[in-house]
Amino acid sequence: MLSVHIQKAFKSDNRITFALDCKLDIPQGITVLFGPSGSGKTTILRSIAGIVEPDSGRIEVAGRLYFDSGKKVNVPIQSRNVGFVFQEYLLFPHLSALQNVAYGIRSSTPKARRERALDLLNLLGIDHAADRRPQQLSGGEQQRVTLARALASDPVILLLDEPMSALDGETRVHLLGELVELQRKSQIPFLYVTHSPADAVRLGDTIILLRAGRVVEVGIPAAVFNAPRNVEASRAVGNENILPGKVKDQNEQEGVTVVDLAGCQLVIPYQPLPIAAPVTIGLRSDEIIISRDPVARTSARNLLEGAIQNVVQEGQEVTIVADCGTTLKIRITAQAFQALNLQPGVKVYLLIKASSCAVLP
Ligand code: ADP
Ligand code: MG
Repeated sequence: MLSVHIQKAFKSDNRITFALDCKLDIPQGITVLFGPSGSGKTTILRSIAGIVEPDSGRIEVAGRLYFDSGKKVNVPIQSRNVGFVFQEYLLFPHLSALQNVAYGIRSSTPKARRERALDLLNLLGIDHAADRRPQQLSGGEQQRVTLARALASDPVILLLDEPMSALDGETRVHLLGELVELQRKSQIPFLYVTHSPADAVRLGDTIILLRAGRVVEVGIPAAVFNAPRNVEASRAVGNENILPGKVKDQNEQEGVTVVDLAGCQLVIPYQPLPIAAPVTIGLRSDEIIISRDPVARTSARNLLEGAIQNVVQEGQEVTIVADCGTTLKIRITAQAFQALNLQPGVKVYLLIKASSCAVLP
């Protein structure tokens, strides 16, 4: 569908500050481009859209050559049939939702354009807001209009650069579900940039992990997050613990919620959710404190008991995999690792602050 193999270097004072060198093949469905900030995600999308010109390489979309440095092909942005939803590409404030969508439609008569725009607003479930201007729409509605506009020109691919980052949790979850449906209906591939693991798992048929301008892994999101193939991939996913669970207990007065994970419990900051509601907790591996002895008095809300399963040393950092009923990854320094004499089978105690537990949207 889409094949990209490009190089691009950014320089400052004749020094290379960032080098992108990546090869991606985007299949049908939703492909998530995932990586830490500064890994080159936006640069890739801008290159496909024609906003950034690569130094060298080739970009082909649905059988059409958009860029080829060898053949000196560089199709201008307006002639590339690509839809995009970028953070900085905002709606026109002086046009209504309908006019904003109609603007992108190429078909002949104003009447045909209007009808097509209404169809798209209908598809996104916001036809009722057709005559409103952007400032009269909620964040979620604005994003739906932006999506409708991006689809208006019948693009062969839709590029989305962190389109949900400004939305609140609930709107975001709704819109993510709708996005999946929209992709199935539109039958064009979506390339979706995010650095949210939860969004990646929820949306992606395929995930491409990017780190420092290079592709480090391609696979199915849940599989890649649970078991990154190598050190690079594990770094690209931030070495996160992604823990699905259910609300077990609520204590609004103390400002905490108790979550039942598969084999243990975690106290997290209060979430206004009903008992048994599903939640996914993200926990950075470097936020967990490991101790060989039980800790009697501590400010941390969680003290888990477990046994070390596995130890992976990478330079000055060591990742410990511990079984506490649920498997957790803990990242510590090589010094701490030696001082504690940690080996597989050793019993450990893990200290986790409630505030280290982020609820993933
Ligand atoms: P991401 O979207 O993954 O956060 P970007 O593609 O925006 O990453 O940026 C990758 C790197 O390239 C960053 O270090 C960024 O500062 C740099 N960069 C991006 N655009 C430019 C530019 N036009 N000039 C110089 N450096 C840039
Ligand atoms: Mg970006």
